Amino acid sequence: MRAEHLYVHVPFCARRCVYCDFSIAVRSHIPVDEYIRALDREWITRHHESEFDLATLYFGGGTPSKLGAQGVSRLLDVTRRRARIRDDAEITLEANPEDVSPESARAWRVAGINRVSLGVQSFDDGVLAWMHRTHDAETALRAIKVLHEEGIDNLSIDLIFATPATISREWERDLEITLGLELPHLSVYGLTVEPHTSLGRWVARRDVSEAAEETFESEYLLAHDRLTAAGFEHYEVSNYGKPGRHSRHNWAYWNRQAYGGIGPSAHEFDGAGRRWNASAYVEWVGRVMRGEDPREGREELGQEQSMAEEVYLNLRTTAGTVISPAERQHIVRLLDAGWAGLANDSTLRLTGAGWLRLDSIANNLTLLRSRS
Ligand code: SF4
Repeated sequence: MRAEHLYVHVPFCARRCVYCDFSIAVRSHIPVDEYIRALDREWITRHHESEFDLATLYFGGGTPSKLGAQGVSRLLDVTRRRARIRDDAEITLEANPEDVSPESARAWRVAGINRVSLGVQSFDDGVLAWMHRTHDAETALRAIKVLHEEGIDNLSIDLIFATPATISREWERDLEITLGLELPHLSVYGLTVEPHTSLGRWVARRDVSEAAEETFESEYLLAHDRLTAAGFEHYEVSNYGKPGRHSRHNWAYWNRQAYGGIGPSAHEFDGAGRRWNASAYVEWVGRVMRGEDPREGREELGQEQSMAEEVYLNLRTTAGTVISPAERQHIVRLLDAGWAGLANDSTLRLTGAGWLRLDSIANNLTLLRSRS
C-alpha cells in the first residue's frame, strides 16, 4: 500500500463515558510495553512492503495521552522506523485534560507532536460529572494553558451539545468560554444515543430523554452563528477552523485519499476498498503477536457505493459537489430554503442549516445521479 496519511488507534481509557461506544480498553494500568510491541508486530506483519510518506499522522483513541510522556515518544519512534514522516507533517495526538502536564506536553512536542485534540466536551462541572468524564472544567482550562506555554499552539478542543434537558446545561456559556480561549480549531458534536452505552440504557428505561430535535437544531445553529462571527470557518459539518488551521488529516478522509490504519479497530482505505482490524484489544494483541493479520473485515466499494460516498463526503465539507446543468432544476429548492449556495455558479455547498439535513440531501442527490 502507498499512502500519505496514517491513523494509529490507542484504545486505552480510565473508564467509559456514558455516551461512548468507541472501541476502547478500560485499564487502570496502561500496558504500554505490550501495546508498543504489538504495534510494531502489526507493522512487520502487514506493512513490510508498504510505502508511507506521511503528510499527516493521527494518534486517536481511546485516549492516546494515557501512554504518558515516554509512551508517546516510543509510539513516534516505532512509526519513524516503519514510515517516512515529512518535515512539515501534521502530527496530532488526542489527549484528555487530566493527562496534560508541563512534563508530558514538553515531551510530546520534543517527540514531534505538533497538534493536540483535547477532549473537553463542556466547561460545566455538573455536565462533565454526568458524562462520567475524568476531568473538571478547571483541569481543562489548565491543560489548554499548559499546552500553549509548552509551545503546542495548534490546538483543537471537542465540545458536545444537545445534552438532555434535565442536565440543565448552558450551551451558550460553554461557547462564550470557548471563544475567550482564542483557539485555532474546534470540533462540535451533537450528543447521540447509542444503544449499547449507559446513556442508551437510561433512555431505553426512560430514566433520561434525548434532547428534543428543536434543541439540537437551535444549539447547532447557535454554535454556527457565534463561531463564524468570531472568524472561524465552518468547513465541515462538525468542524471549525481559523483560516489555515483546518485538520489536514481529516480533510484527507473527506477527500477519499488513501490512508493506513494500525491498531485495534483501525480502518484503512487503499482507494478501492476499506479494511478494518479486530476491535477487541486482547484479540488484536493475540493475533499480531502470533504473526497473523488482525483483519476483521474488508469491503470493496462498487461504482454505486463510491459515488454515494463521494456525494456524501463532498457535501459534508465546504468542498461541495459540482452540479451538472441537468441537476440544477432539482437543487433550486435547496437554494430557496437557504440550505445551500452555489459557488462559481456550479459548486453546491451546504449552509449550516443545510448540514442539519445532510443525510436526506445527500441521499436525494445520489438517487438523482444513479438514475442519470
Ligand atoms: S475518553 Fe473518549 S474514548 Fe474514552 S470513554 Fe470517554 S468518549 Fe470514549
